[in-house]
Amino acid sequence: MEKLSNPQVTIETIKKYEFAFQKKFGQNFLIDAHVINKIISAADITKDDCVLEIGPGIGTMTQYLAESAGQVVAVEIDKNLLPILDETLAEYDNVTIINDDILKVDINKIVEERNGGRPIKVVANLPYYITTPIIMGLFEKHVPLLSVTVMVQKEVAQRICSPAGKGDYGAFSVFCQYYAEPELLFDVPASCFIPQPKVTSAVVCLRTRPAPADIRDEVLFFRTVRASFAQRRKTLVNGLASGFPQLTKAELTDVLAACGLPANVRGETLGLEGFAALSNAIGERL
Ligand code: SAM
Repeated sequence: MEKLSNPQVTIETIKKYEFAFQKKFGQNFLIDAHVINKIISAADITKDDCVLEIGPGIGTMTQYLAESAGQVVAVEIDKNLLPILDETLAEYDNVTIINDDILKVDINKIVEERNGGRPIKVVANLPYYITTPIIMGLFEKHVPLLSVTVMVQKEVAQRICSPAGKGDYGAFSVFCQYYAEPELLFDVPASCFIPQPKVTSAVVCLRTRPAPADIRDEVLFFRTVRASFAQRRKTLVNGLASGFPQLTKAELTDVLAACGLPANVRGETLGLEGFAALSNAIGERL
């Protein structure tokens, strides 16, 4: 069939199935072939790849993924989209649709069953209302991943990629940069979707790599990061004092000094290595 990236084909398909967009599922379908091609080429999809697509919608990007990848597994929550996907993806024999909630499905099991446990690439125009839990889930559950190339709200893309010390930098930036090297690729205007979202979007690619810093205890590292950003207007010592009530402020000031940090340092100025040193030093006191 003619591609759904042609807006007319998308409109006809939606009419034919009397499909009603569900706001609660963040349904904004792409209607721009140029944007889809740019996403697929940024993700560097080849026939060697198994791609997990989160939220295929009516299958617009899935059609392109099926042509570029070895196989595509697409997880879609909205059962009303299943008959549409049956038709729009009928000519591809390398696509599997799973009707489930991406936050509940066992992605590691999918990777094991579909790709023998070998690392996959995630490509998606994400439902924006669950961007953070989706990305955190992929990394925290240690899904074997080569990269995650996703359309997200522009502000979220900026937060993911922000360097230490910049306004957008926060616990989620550290989290993403611990697991991957994120790159902000390009903005996508609301006019590239039906219906148009109220926000500007951007595509970000997170290429996984081993953690770039010496972290002795991953759980303690993330606890330290969360405590450091929990009270943004306070100094780091005060944030840490709330997160680690078993340590006194004097002890925490000593910990900072041992890391070569001044007593009035703010958490948002620390990069991965700074947080690694800090959490390792806290670990020695607990
Ligand atoms: N990929 C399509 C496109 O680009 O045109 C649709 C993208 S739309 C922004 C997000 C898609 O994610 C919708 O199809 C929506 O139904 C689906 N979705 C929303 N929440 C989901 C969830 N928890 N699990 C799986 N899919 C979900």
